[in-house]
Amino acid sequence: MQRVLVVSPEGAPLSPCRPARARWLLTQQKAAALRRYPFTIILRRPPSGTETPPLRVKIDPGSKTTGIAVVNEATGEVVWAAEVSHRGQQVKDALAARRATRRGRRQRHTRYRPPRFDNRTRPHGWLPPSLGSRVQHVVTWVERLRRVAPPTAISLELVRFDTQLIEHPETTDIAYQQGTLAGWEVREYLLLKWGYRCAYCHTEAIRWEVDHIVPRSRGGTNRVSNLALACHACNQAKGDRTAAEDGHPDVQAQAKHPLKDAAAVNSTRWALYARVQRTGLPVKTGTGGRTKWNRTQRGLPKTHWLDAACVGASTPTRLHARGVIPVVIQATGRHSRQMCRPNAFGFPDKAPKATSVVGGFRTGDIVRAVVPAPSVKAGTYVGRLAIRATGSCNLKTATGAVQGIHYKYCRPLHRGDGYAYMNGGAALPPHA
Ligand SMILES: [Zn+2]
Repeated sequence: MQRVLVVSPEGAPLSPCRPARARWLLTQQKAAALRRYPFTIILRRPPSGTETPPLRVKIDPGSKTTGIAVVNEATGEVVWAAEVSHRGQQVKDALAARRATRRGRRQRHTRYRPPRFDNRTRPHGWLPPSLGSRVQHVVTWVERLRRVAPPTAISLELVRFDTQLIEHPETTDIAYQQGTLAGWEVREYLLLKWGYRCAYCHTEAIRWEVDHIVPRSRGGTNRVSNLALACHACNQAKGDRTAAEDGHPDVQAQAKHPLKDAAAVNSTRWALYARVQRTGLPVKTGTGGRTKWNRTQRGLPKTHWLDAACVGASTPTRLHARGVIPVVIQATGRHSRQMCRPNAFGFPDKAPKATSVVGGFRTGDIVRAVVPAPSVKAGTYVGRLAIRATGSCNLKTATGAVQGIHYKYCRPLHRGDGYAYMNGGAALPPHA
């Protein structure tokens, strides 16, 4: 069951509690709601005893969506989960638009600007903004979680496959040397490396066999560089010949090249690893193969947050994930910093950006609007505010957009923080 995050009167993170207990604490006036996303309550009196469960923050970074799970390592309970959707494409589009506008200056008659030379060095470890934002969103949420839950460790999926692990199983843990994990990870690796096709006849959708390119009988080893994916017919036909003798020197050549795994060379994951290490908490890493194996062993469906809960060797044998509703978080950014909006030809044709605060509200605030009876819009709405200078604003609710809601009917529930939330905090009634 998704737990409710609790902090002490001083704001120190405490052990998360059950929703029923949180409801009781709130109705008994022993606690107050502190924050809506992630839903956190603050105790009015210091707790008598403070036991801190061993909580581990687990992260499965994805290109579009990152899964985050907080797992109690002692009980195997998933305490809290979220899926953060990134805005890499929006960042990329915005930068492309800016670049086009700047480039347009070559044809345009604009005021004199002194030329810029040699002032564009990129610092070491620079990431493109679209990728850098991904790292920062994950770090933001790890830091936010640390303020309201007391994690003792972090697990991070770093690479899709650990080639070191596959090539040298003797240097790794016992679960990998014996048992099914090694075979599993090697098989997944081979499927990707050979593109889910037979290496010899290139047919798809067959039962795979692992073929030794130089057969075992001829002194071939079990190393991945000697393995290929083959269909039954090709494997049988090849017999005890090597791939080259069988007329496939290309297979023999390709096998020598390790898979240039997209994730293994993924600079964002390493950048994230470096940033997460700076939190000071012990960080363990896992492979994507291990995550999938862990998830399949526990019979869990594929979702981003369950993948996160299954990252790494430290995953508890039994994971209790029933009743967990992950918070769906969408990165939205915080307004536009553009001071002058140009038209399609790059000429400024709109008034410079005025204040973004209207009646104390800003775009991105989550509010409750209660519109009184005579109005055609009469009713109660909860949603994300899009501010308008006239004061008559738009509200994006769970059921759709509502236009023309004046800010005077709105009460803030959660101030805009660069994210939109689809659900979560759902463990408690909205009045809390
Ligand atoms: Zn074949």
